Amino acid sequence: MNFSNLDKFLQSENGLSRRLFLAYTTALSSIPWLGCASTNFYESFEENPFSLGVASGDPNHEGMVLWTKLAPKPLQLDYGMPPDVVSEVKWEVATDESMSSIVQSGFETANPHLGHSIHVETTGLKPDHWYFYRFHCGDFISPIGRTRTMPKEGAKADKLRFAVTSCQNYEQGLYTAYEQMLTDDVDLVFHLGDYIYEYAAKENRVRKHLGKEIETLAEYRRRYAQYRSDPLLQKMHAACPWIVTWDDHEFDNNWANDVSEKANVDKASFMKRRATAFQTYYEMMPLRKTSVPQGPNLQLYRQINFGSLASFYVLDTRQYRTNQPNGDGKKALNSQARNPQNTLLGKDQKAWMYKSLSDSSSTWNVLAQQVMMGTVNTQRNKNKSAVYSMDQWPGCVTERNKIVEFMSNHKVSNPVVLTGDIHCNWANELRMDDLKPEGKIVATEFVATSLSSGGNKGQGQSTASIYKANNPCVKFYNEERGYILCELTDKVWTSHYKVVDDVLKPGGKTSTRASYKVLSGNPKVIKA
Ligand code: FE
Ligand code: CA
Repeated sequence: MNFSNLDKFLQSENGLSRRLFLAYTTALSSIPWLGCASTNFYESFEENPFSLGVASGDPNHEGMVLWTKLAPKPLQLDYGMPPDVVSEVKWEVATDESMSSIVQSGFETANPHLGHSIHVETTGLKPDHWYFYRFHCGDFISPIGRTRTMPKEGAKADKLRFAVTSCQNYEQGLYTAYEQMLTDDVDLVFHLGDYIYEYAAKENRVRKHLGKEIETLAEYRRRYAQYRSDPLLQKMHAACPWIVTWDDHEFDNNWANDVSEKANVDKASFMKRRATAFQTYYEMMPLRKTSVPQGPNLQLYRQINFGSLASFYVLDTRQYRTNQPNGDGKKALNSQARNPQNTLLGKDQKAWMYKSLSDSSSTWNVLAQQVMMGTVNTQRNKNKSAVYSMDQWPGCVTERNKIVEFMSNHKVSNPVVLTGDIHCNWANELRMDDLKPEGKIVATEFVATSLSSGGNKGQGQSTASIYKANNPCVKFYNEERGYILCELTDKVWTSHYKVVDDVLKPGGKTSTRASYKVLSGNPKVIKA
């Protein structure tokens, strides 16, 4: 923990007062990980410390992050590890599934101040290759994970296949969709947020959260452990690298920068909770060291390249945004929503994104982000006036329109936006101003429905016809659970909307509800 960084952050980026900063650091110092001096070496496990499995993520052309976490009793608040011990964990990378041809190995220390998580950043592997990996600690060996490197930057790559998932409320549905995803043979998974939900346990759901609404470090850790204990989620993490970003529920519903959705929340304790949520997110995700949290700061926006075929710009639309205009909710696109000061990205992230987009020579340029960019009127009552989601891009419509204008002016090659958050599927055609359908289409948006949040729903066909009639940008809408399977070549992008017929009991069947494609050079959404 670097307090001078914190000070700088709180005074410059957030403009908080010195008084608030002091209150915040006092609150923060009560988090146990700050003060612990851990010197005892521990490896005498009675139970398997690899109960949460393995994961990999953020691949480049020569390596990726290999992840695990020691948790002999994952659902206990202390996850079965004494608070003051370190453990030595051996990692191995092999070219074969039986781990007989090991090409790299090493040791990492599992520390209590990062929840005994391990993040190995491998380098020197061959580009565009699949590998296998595992960990050892004490007498235990982890499950074997499968992962891959990306083709070299600029190298020609013929095809890429990946899944887009989001919103996996543990109480509201089973993770049946991952069973199908495991057979889809994907190179990558993108998780676009709401990996966990912070809410207290509720009665009469398919599964039950442990405990009340999470606030402490131990509670956040146990909630992630409960989610990651799901065998299908664990298997999917072990099947290929994941590229993750958060939305709101990894911390608190509809949070915006340093603002809670609830009134009268003490800012210092809100920022302490944000630091706790960010720390747990880092601990549980296969993220690089650039994402090690600095108090209430965590840099999540980053670029991932797949040869010259695709560049992915992973965005964070929560940490740097301005507060939702018009008091959040669904409101008119009025002067408050159109205020040019409203931002979802913040100055630095936007400058980085603009530079990355204009520097790119990739065929497909993909924003992997959280909230819907299509400026969609979601009013279903035809006697009432139009409403737009203030938590999504319509709440920053001037910024959003400028981004699309930038893509058009700079002739960004095949811009595609991937979105989560909204618990239904959409395919949208994005214009500089979506309310002016005579304008040219600049980009394409594919919105993935929730994996489980919301439970079973029908297709919502009557809503779909209202939305399509009122919004020329909307080409597809569907309310079922599932994910998107994307297949790319340099000529065509195809998105298959995968849906599960029942997430409330085991054995649900997954099928393809619809497929849409985009041809390189033309952002129009076409039925595949
Ligand atoms: Fe959600
Ligand atoms: Ca959300």
